[in-house]
Amino acid sequence: MPRGAGLHNMSEEQLKQNKRERDLRSYHKNKDRRRKAQELLKRNAKTITCGCGGTYKDISQWKNSHERTGKHQLWDEEEEKGLRPLICRKINSVNTLEEAQTELDNLYFKNEKFTYINKELFIPKLVRHFNKMPDKEKPKPKPKKLIIKRKLKIIPENS
Ligand SMILES: [Zn+2]
Repeated sequence: MPRGAGLHNMSEEQLKQNKRERDLRSYHKNKDRRRKAQELLKRNAKTITCGCGGTYKDISQWKNSHERTGKHQLWDEEEEKGLRPLICRKINSVNTLEEAQTELDNLYFKNEKFTYINKELFIPKLVRHFNKMPDKEKPKPKPKKLIIKRKLKIIPENS
């Protein structure tokens, strides 16, 4: 580029104006390039399914904004307080984390906690409630074998 040739005739103001225009062109050119790079990144990024049930593209900004959603924050709080495993330990009919989730959803509903924030504020009360309950009885392991052993003991005595 023969940039230097005509410059001597330009006023200070013209030079400044030219620089502004060059900067602006370069800004737009870069903006376009950044946008295209971002789109490519988005297209190639894996979709992550979060523990909370939500999904996001595997890009740190998207992950961050997902983690700020009410849905995720509620799940995070439930996880931190160990709410689902706690329900598994306390409620006889609940044996899996999925069943615990159903139980939890019912509890929120029964107590009229419908928004993420109301649910989140209800968690300490739920935790206290469940901690007061005794642990459910663990299923006795292999009771049939015990019966058989007793029978075997009896048989030789009678014969
Ligand atoms: Zn999440």
